[in-house]
Amino acid sequence: MEVPRDPAQCGAMNLTNALPWILLMASAACPAQTLTIRLYDHANLPAGEMARTTEVTTLALGHSGIQVKWLQCRGAAAPASPDATCDVEMRSNEITMRLLPLALDPKDPRTTEMACAIVNSEGGHYGTVYVPAVRATAKELDVAADLLLGFVIAHEGVHLMLGPAHSRSGLMRAGYSRKEAGDLQRVSLGLTPPEAHKLAAVLKVPSTMASLR
Ligand SMILES: [Zn+2]
Repeated sequence: MEVPRDPAQCGAMNLTNALPWILLMASAACPAQTLTIRLYDHANLPAGEMARTTEVTTLALGHSGIQVKWLQCRGAAAPASPDATCDVEMRSNEITMRLLPLALDPKDPRTTEMACAIVNSEGGHYGTVYVPAVRATAKELDVAADLLLGFVIAHEGVHLMLGPAHSRSGLMRAGYSRKEAGDLQRVSLGLTPPEAHKLAAVLKVPSTMASLR
C-alpha cells in the first residue's frame, strides 16, 4: 500500500478523547461476523499506541458490522506467557498480521510502501506492515501514526479476506492522500457497501483453512 505524496493539510484531532463515544456507537451495531487478527508486533509499539491502533482497526471494520477479535501474539500487549491460541491452525476467518520495524531507505522506493499482503484472487492469511513507513506517511498527512496504522491494518486485513482489488474511495483506496486525511481523523474511512457485503459473506461461516484454500 502506498500513499500519494500530495501537498496540503489539516490539523490532527485528539484521537484519545474522540474514541470512547465512537466506540459506543460502534458497539450498538451488534456486528454478526468476526475477523480474528493474530498480531505479531516486532516493532515493539508502546502499549498505549498499540491500544489506539487496534481501536482504530476495530472501528474501521466495525462501521461495516464486522467485529474484530485480537490475539496479541508478540509485543508489549502480548501476554507474558505464549498464548496457545496463536499456535493452533488458523480458520478461514483468521489472519496473521506482522508489524515490522524495517527502516526507511531514501534510495530504495520499496521501503516507502506501508504494507503488503500475500494474496491470490480469493485472499490470503499473511500481511505485513512496515511501521517506519507508516510513521513517515502519517507525518506527511499530518495525522497521528497510530491512527494511520490502525487503518493500514484494516486495509490489509480486507485484502486478505477479499483479494487484491482496490476501490476508488474509502478504506480500500490504493493509497490515502491529504484528501482522505479528514476521514482518517474522524475515523470514518470505511468499506463501500459492496465490499462490506462481500466481507460479511466471506466471514459468515468460519471453517479450517484446508477446506477453503
Ligand atoms: Zn491495498
